[in-house]
Amino acid sequence: MTVEKKSIDTLVVGAGQAGIAMSEHLTAQGVPHVVLERNRIAEQWRTGRWDSLVANGPAWHDRFPGLEFENFDPDGFPGKDQIADYFEAYAKKFNAPIHAGVEVHKVVRNQGHPGFTVETSEGVYDVQRVVAATGPFQRPVIPPIAPKDDRLTQIHSAHYRNPEQLPEGAVLVVGAGSSGVQIADELNRAGRKVYLSVGPHDRPPRAYRNRDFVWWLGVLGQWDQEVATPGKEHVTIAVTGARGGYTINFRELAHQGINLVGLTHAFEDGKVTFKSDLVQNLNNGDANYLALLDAADAYIERNGLDLPEEPEARKVFADPECVANPILELDLDQAGINSIIWATGYTVEHPWLQVDAFDERGKPKHQRGVSAEPGVYFVGLPWLSRRGSSFIWGVWHDARHIADHIATRRKYEAYRDASQRERERETARA
Ligand SMILES: Cc1cc2nc3c(=O)[nH]c(=O)nc-3n(C[C@H](O)[C@H](O)[C@H](O)COP(=O)(O)OP(=O)(O)OC[C@H]3O[C@@H](n4cnc5c(N)ncnc54)[C@H](O)[C@@H]3O)c2cc1C
Repeated sequence: MTVEKKSIDTLVVGAGQAGIAMSEHLTAQGVPHVVLERNRIAEQWRTGRWDSLVANGPAWHDRFPGLEFENFDPDGFPGKDQIADYFEAYAKKFNAPIHAGVEVHKVVRNQGHPGFTVETSEGVYDVQRVVAATGPFQRPVIPPIAPKDDRLTQIHSAHYRNPEQLPEGAVLVVGAGSSGVQIADELNRAGRKVYLSVGPHDRPPRAYRNRDFVWWLGVLGQWDQEVATPGKEHVTIAVTGARGGYTINFRELAHQGINLVGLTHAFEDGKVTFKSDLVQNLNNGDANYLALLDAADAYIERNGLDLPEEPEARKVFADPECVANPILELDLDQAGINSIIWATGYTVEHPWLQVDAFDERGKPKHQRGVSAEPGVYFVGLPWLSRRGSSFIWGVWHDARHIADHIATRRKYEAYRDASQRERERETARA
């Protein structure tokens, strides 16, 4: 039996923000394409986040240029469902050719002729190009130190929804980036005893001198940073838009009841041990915070801006007990810890993309999303072209670059020399 193949120039895999941005720019370039999404548009925003999650950036910033959040304070932080609705509306705005509920199983390069054969749950496609827009945060990672202990409820932050989901008792939250710190704060406010394991982090001020930190990172050129500062590749960023947005200050959170501990080291005999790096991690985070205030002050002075001074932003909180005398070991039973939330990040994987576009560690090989395998593209990956690449506003600009590249390739592919043009004219006349 011969399988009928559908043909299209470009296939985009994934209809999150990256796939939608890609589709918008391909549409503008007149590139015939289809977007296949195994779930629904913006599914990760819809069901892959905890209930109370709001955007980390204000509505004026965390959006695409072509549409504002309707009836929403531009300085406010939209909730996860509002963001999902926003992307659905955005896709509708330009009739994005999205087929939802279709999974891409396999992509292989054609032999002896250009393009790729794509196996999907709605049949086989023959395409000239494939854009992987399957997300920067795909597979939740739980480190191998996680104890094998049936008495403990252990989940990744990707599967956390709300405090009621966890059994009674204290909670250890491992990881204090934006996810870990927000979850720890929510649990603490819900009356849970919380231990928060804090590693190296950056913690920009939520706002300083009447400007949100996203504005400061923009005007200071920090969103455009092209590669992570050496030694800071694994440094997470602790920010939140929850409760209207506030600056993450770990000492302040500890005064509010959260027990801070250093990096989680090991679990053995019902005990957990922590590294003695808590104070160092907090001090480095403070240095990062103060460096941004200094850079902001210098920018204001250099440009003669009239923005109110904010000396209280430099207030130093006294060391809480858990910082003055860091906990290095905890007996899980004695501490009443019944749950562990692993806010330890995600990894990227493309098992369906069976082409020569990955290095020996399985990392995509690309330059600004244009992969080492001609005709294969990536969009939405962290640091694809710069720091902003995996974020809502950043991916839109990367997608434009990739669509430009595709349009240029198509121009080369469409070129015919004089004899070919003559033959085509003769065929048309016949
Ligand atoms: C907790 C959390 C909070 C965040 N908050 C913000 C924020 O406030 N502001 C901000 O700018 N960024 C934020 N981000 C970062 C980023 O914006 C999101 O991760 C965003 O979802 C990434 O969009 P994406 O389109 O690249 O990937 P995704 O949203 O992950 O979309 C990828 C899509 O591909 C589909 N897919 C995967 N494989 C296949 C396949 N084989 N076939 C078909 N479809 C497939 C998936 O179903 C999915 O819908 C946050 C990230 C996390 C984890």
